[in-house]
Amino acid sequence: MTDLHDTLLTFDTHIDIPWPDMNDAWSSDNPRKVDVRKCHQGKLRSVCLAAYIPQGPRDEAGHEEAWERVQAMLKVINSLGGEQDGLAARVCRTAQDVRSAFKNNALAIVPAIENGHALGGVPARIGQLARDYGVRYMTLTHNGHNVLADAAIPLKSLNDVTALHGGLSEIGRETIREMNRHGVLVDVSHTAKSTMMQASELSTTPVFASHSCVRSLCDHPRNLDDEQLDRLKETDGLIQITAMGSFLRKGGAGTVEDLARHVAYVAERIGVRHVGVSSDFDGGGGIPGWEDATETRNVTRALEAAGFGPDDLSAIWGGNMLRLMEKAEQASISA
Ligand SMILES: [Zn+2]
Repeated sequence: MTDLHDTLLTFDTHIDIPWPDMNDAWSSDNPRKVDVRKCHQGKLRSVCLAAYIPQGPRDEAGHEEAWERVQAMLKVINSLGGEQDGLAARVCRTAQDVRSAFKNNALAIVPAIENGHALGGVPARIGQLARDYGVRYMTLTHNGHNVLADAAIPLKSLNDVTALHGGLSEIGRETIREMNRHGVLVDVSHTAKSTMMQASELSTTPVFASHSCVRSLCDHPRNLDDEQLDRLKETDGLIQITAMGSFLRKGGAGTVEDLARHVAYVAERIGVRHVGVSSDFDGGGGIPGWEDATETRNVTRALEAAGFGPDDLSAIWGGNMLRLMEKAEQASISA
C-alpha cells in the first residue's frame, strides 16, 4: 500500500543555510539538518532556502556589509542544483518550476531572504535580487528593528526602543511596492504586529508568515495572535507553523504533535487554505519527531492523527504556498 506521504508535494517554506558555506549540501556526512540526500530520504520535495542576514547597525557600514553578504549567500543557494548518485536538485523560480521538479523527482530549491536589512536601505535592490537570484520572499525584519520596519523582538545590543517606526517606515512601504512589482512575497515572520497589520493592508499580494506559530496557544512574541490570523483570512494570506519548540509550547518542549495542534487551530479558526508547515532547520528549528529532513514523514503522520485527510494535507504541505507564489507571479506580470 502506498503511504500518502510519498505522494505529496511536501514544501518546507523556511530553512537556513550554514554560513560561511562549507560546500557540503550534497555530501553524505555533514552537520546539516537539511541537505539534498536528507531531503530525498525524508521525501521532503521542496524547500525555501533563506539567505539570513543578522541585524547589524542601521548605518552605512552595516548596510554595506548586509548587501555584500546577501549576494554571496544567494550565489551559493543558486549553485545547489545538479545531479549526483541518481539524486537531483533544481533551483526553481516559479510555482510551475516547483511542480515540474516534483514530477521529475528533483528536490526543488526556492531562494528567499531573511531580513530586509539585506537591501541596505535601497528598496529597488529587491528587483535586482529577484532578477539575478530568483528570490521569492523576504522577511521584512529579523530580530531587531531595521530601516524598513519594527521587529517583534527589539535588540538591546542595538539600543532598540520598543517601537522605532510604529510599524513600517517610508522605506519599508516603498520596499513592499517593489516586492509586489517583482513577484517577491512579503514575509511577516519576525515583524512587530504593527508592521504585519500595515503590510497586509498595503501589499497587493497576500502577506504570509514563513515560520511562526499561534500566540493564543503559546504566548511568544514571534507568534501571531487571533486578530492577525483573522487578517490573514481576510487577505487570503498564510501562516506556516514552524518546528521551533519554544514557539509551540511554553517552556520550549514542543513536539511534532504540538505542531499539528497549532496547524489544527489555524485550520479551525480561519480555514485549511491559510495554513502550512515549515521547519526553520539549520536556523534553530527541530523538535522531537521532526529533528531533520529525514524525519519529514512524521509530520504527515501527526497531521493525519490530528484528523486531516488527503486534500487537506495536499493544501497544508504545499498547495497553499504554491497558490501564493502564483498570485505573486501574476501580480508581477500585470505590474
Ligand atoms: Zn527566523
